[in-house]
Amino acid sequence: MSVLVLAENPKGKFKKPAFEAVYYGHLTAKALGVECIALVLGAAENPGQLGTYGASKVIHLSDSSFDSYDSRRYLAAVTQVAQQTGASAVVLNHSSTGKSLLGGLSITLNAGVVSGVNSIPTTDNGFSVKKNVFGGKAIAEVNISTDVKVLSLVGNSIPLEEVATDAAPVESLQVDLPEAKTTVTGQKTVDGIVPLPEAELVVSAGRGMKGPENWGIIEDLANVLGATTACSRPVADDDWRPHHEHVGQTGVAIRPNLYIAAGISGAIQHLAGVNSSKTIVVINIDPEAPFFKAADYGVCADLFDVVPALTEAIKNFKASN
Ligand code: FAD
Repeated sequence: MSVLVLAENPKGKFKKPAFEAVYYGHLTAKALGVECIALVLGAAENPGQLGTYGASKVIHLSDSSFDSYDSRRYLAAVTQVAQQTGASAVVLNHSSTGKSLLGGLSITLNAGVVSGVNSIPTTDNGFSVKKNVFGGKAIAEVNISTDVKVLSLVGNSIPLEEVATDAAPVESLQVDLPEAKTTVTGQKTVDGIVPLPEAELVVSAGRGMKGPENWGIIEDLANVLGATTACSRPVADDDWRPHHEHVGQTGVAIRPNLYIAAGISGAIQHLAGVNSSKTIVVINIDPEAPFFKAADYGVCADLFDVVPALTEAIKNFKASN
């Protein structure tokens, strides 16, 4: 019996989401009294390193067809490895890859699925996990009664810890893969920044910025903090900012340690993607802006005064510390 974790490895490299998923799988396996096995698909640098986060074994299917995502082939691979390793739980990231596999795995493994979990499962009374519901306004505890459970883990939900110093043994397995029905002809990726789902610090802005030409002050603040930039949906819809920065119900859902929102009203659809952030700082000129209700710290003032002043203050603080 095992907990099987799909460790994502974009461009052959493991990043924080893969380590979080493996560590989460390790804690789940511990609760169930089984071993945690990581599954790696496609080219990967040093898959054995996943042992550090609790994988007792890594199954690496290095077929180069896995280097770009194909839902049929990924589904077949995860299903067959789960069956061959006797997985009682399968852990995925709550990423585009993870989300696209959930439905298929529920059918192929006859599994109960919970998407977007943010807590370690409890096993005192069946198998239960927690997830945010109603746009983050409530927490649901979901009991899964099927033999196999499939979970997708929201990033930054659990503090990551290394549990071993040794690399895990790496093995392969034989799987039958269906013909690919799609061909990836190109991929556009954003390099050089921490992707939003992994970011611990986020500086975000909305329509209060008045236009894309003013974004320099947001980038300056993000740079001085080492933060990732985000935006509200209308800003992305109007092409002021790229769509991958759009956070909220229809954008990326994030849980950073710090979310700074400048010139964003705090509509329910925006809050749905950000209100699990650990600390929220809102800068808005309107004292009635709904975002203030969700804020840990609120600055009711003009962002064009506050944001540069904050950047300067952080620069000075860093220079003298
Ligand atoms: P506005 O609502 O126009 O707010 C601008 C804010 O800036 C105001 O509060 C104003 O007081 C403040 N401001 C103006 N000037 C200044 C200044 N000089 N200094 C400080 N503050 C200033 N939205 C999302 O963000 N993400 C989603 O995923 C999303 N999904 C949606 C899904 C659906 C089905 C629908 C219907 C809507 C969705 N929306 C989403 C849109 C959402 O309802 C809001 O319209 C949107 O979030 C508003 O964006 P905003 O706060 O940037 O703009």
